[in-house]
Amino acid sequence: MRVFNFSPGPAALPVEVLEQARDEMLDWRGSGMSVMEMSHRGKAFRSIAEEAEADLRELLGVPSNYKVLFLQGGATAQFAAIPLNLTAPGDVIDFVVTGSWSKKALSEAKRYASVNVAADAGEPYVSIPPVETWQLSPNAAYVHYTPNETIGGVEFHFIPDVKGAALVADMSSTILSRPIDVSKYALIYAGAQKNIGPAGLTLVIVREDLLGRARPETPSVFNYAAMAKEGSMLNTPPTFAVYIAGLVFKWLKRKGGLEAMAEINRAKADKLYATIDASSFYRNPVAKEARSWMNVPFTLARPELDKVFIEEAKKAGLVTLEGHRSVGGMRASIYNAMPMEGVDALVSFMKEFERTKG
Ligand SMILES: *Cc1c(COP(=O)(O)O)cnc(C)c1O
Repeated sequence: MRVFNFSPGPAALPVEVLEQARDEMLDWRGSGMSVMEMSHRGKAFRSIAEEAEADLRELLGVPSNYKVLFLQGGATAQFAAIPLNLTAPGDVIDFVVTGSWSKKALSEAKRYASVNVAADAGEPYVSIPPVETWQLSPNAAYVHYTPNETIGGVEFHFIPDVKGAALVADMSSTILSRPIDVSKYALIYAGAQKNIGPAGLTLVIVREDLLGRARPETPSVFNYAAMAKEGSMLNTPPTFAVYIAGLVFKWLKRKGGLEAMAEINRAKADKLYATIDASSFYRNPVAKEARSWMNVPFTLARPELDKVFIEEAKKAGLVTLEGHRSVGGMRASIYNAMPMEGVDALVSFMKEFERTKG
């Protein structure tokens, strides 16, 4: 039996995608083999990778002066790869800190460049500092921010105006949740395992004029120019993850693209927040304008019931609702693959739990 899986990542995938992967598992379109068993240099896999890139470009409207790279190492590898590719020693990077992931990106970048904290929302990370108050450096190599903080559930519902500076965004947990204007960014990156596909694939979308400045010591597999030149196949790419991501992109196109996803995602989030706000038993601490569509943390008025909540939810087929160990409580991650029925089931469960136990 399939459950409604509210995991923050690796996260649920669309069931249609899993079914198609199952059907093609032993014999991909007459090739007599699984995609997992194919040479990445063969015609079959090349067509899979090319179609995945073309579909992603179409979905996001990626302008032609941007490269799309399929890398490995997760978003965490990019915390180091971005400064290695885009800065020289001594350069300054501006960081906007709105939670755990922006802090991690900052501390890794510190090993390679000088960092300026342009803004820090401060503990307990439930809001976005007003952009007018950001202390941007005059000559920053780039400004880094985290459009959606997966742990705290804090999301930017706008693109910050950084006065012409190069803008770099960790979109791991929000990419493909709605249309974005890629041209406003110098670089966008995302680990796949939240809203794209399986773990092991990392997406980087980078403006071409930023290529070719990597430091000499940059590992080749993290060198954007080298990877772009080889079509992300300088070495063996994560072939199966690319294939599944490609199926997800086709699924998104069938669903009506990112405009349609945005509508569904907004409706799912609104429903869950409305349930939380209408109750005195559940609480979400995030400033209303910065509440995430993707990750909805909430606490119970009686934390001693946390365990019971998790256990009973599991019996109802609603799993992985534990909050991150650093914040406690609950967190429902409701990425693209979570259907409205999953949110409806969670909302009904929450109401019934409050009525009987609250
Ligand atoms: C999950 C996550 C990461 C870490 O991703 P890895 O692929 O595990 O390195 C970084 N940033 C954000 C916003 C995330 O949600």
